[in-house]
Amino acid sequence: MNKLFGEISRRDFMKYCASTAAVLGLSQVEFVSKVSEALAAASAKPPVIWLEGQDCAGCTISFAGALNPPAASVILDKLSVRYHETLMAGAGYLSEAVYDDTLKEGGFVLVVEGSIPTADDRFCMVGGRPFKEMVEECGAKAAAVIAAGACSSFGGIPAAGPTKAVGANKIIKGKPVINLPTCPVHVDHLVGTILYFLTTGKAPALDNLGRPKMYFGQLIHDNCRRRYYFDNEMFLQDWNDPKQKDWCLYEKGCKGPDTYADCPIRRWNDGLNFCIDAGAPCQGCAEPDFYAGMSPLYTAESERSQKIMARKAAGLIPPQEEKV
Ligand code: SF4
Ligand code: SF4
Repeated sequence: MNKLFGEISRRDFMKYCASTAAVLGLSQVEFVSKVSEALAAASAKPPVIWLEGQDCAGCTISFAGALNPPAASVILDKLSVRYHETLMAGAGYLSEAVYDDTLKEGGFVLVVEGSIPTADDRFCMVGGRPFKEMVEECGAKAAAVIAAGACSSFGGIPAAGPTKAVGANKIIKGKPVINLPTCPVHVDHLVGTILYFLTTGKAPALDNLGRPKMYFGQLIHDNCRRRYYFDNEMFLQDWNDPKQKDWCLYEKGCKGPDTYADCPIRRWNDGLNFCIDAGAPCQGCAEPDFYAGMSPLYTAESERSQKIMARKAAGLIPPQEEKV
């Protein structure tokens, strides 16, 4: 399985550790030595079960497609990913046997991708069994549970349909689920959280929605380069007018004032860009009521957008310069 991605170079590993170390408040040297100690102390590579329910595999693609450093290699070289429907080479009874053995062993990291239907188990069956059952049994035996992406965190897009989809934390009882929403999951959030767990043996500090504060502690709106235009009510109306190209996207449906995530700082696609800088309004994919509660996405007509503007009118979103 690890050979799928090749061996990670020391240089790439160090580069990745540097960015994760920063959020842990450690120097790169301290962090690398902690990760090395944690991995040396483990008698074998820590096992991972990655389940996929009502999903589009977009989070798997986000994870496996990370370019520089090859984040997938960081994980695949350091962990033993035993079961992953999209990536594993095995199939059928062979893969089910690996799943059963890992489950019996316990103590694995469980990553859940996709939501879980509660209207009827038949909306999501894997190998003839309700997906919900797999989440329950894996959740009970896992050392740590990570919900990768908006669907497994809060229900996501499937929650807008008839399946009454929910996130993993509504199914798994008695232990915390670390929620890494955004649609798809950000590879840095996933790799950083796993490295944090390996290094410290515990979950990072979470907010009241189960999201790591180190990634979801700030509003998109407070780090947005279009913020001056929001404060001065210069809202983009015409995509084709070059004069308006940097103006605020609120009237195009931007939910940045209601969304906590570090997209403007961390950015996406190897730090290349993120929604708003690419000219697309933030759709609030890091929040629990994405997607239904954020619709319609591309206008300011939604109840959500109206509430944002009412808060601005009431002086509850003061101009940025007044805040410092
Ligand atoms: S509404 Fe959106 S585009 Fe406008 S400043 Fe806030 S986050 Fe940026
Ligand atoms: S900017 Fe908004 S819509 Fe885009 S990824 Fe971040 S939270 Fe999701």
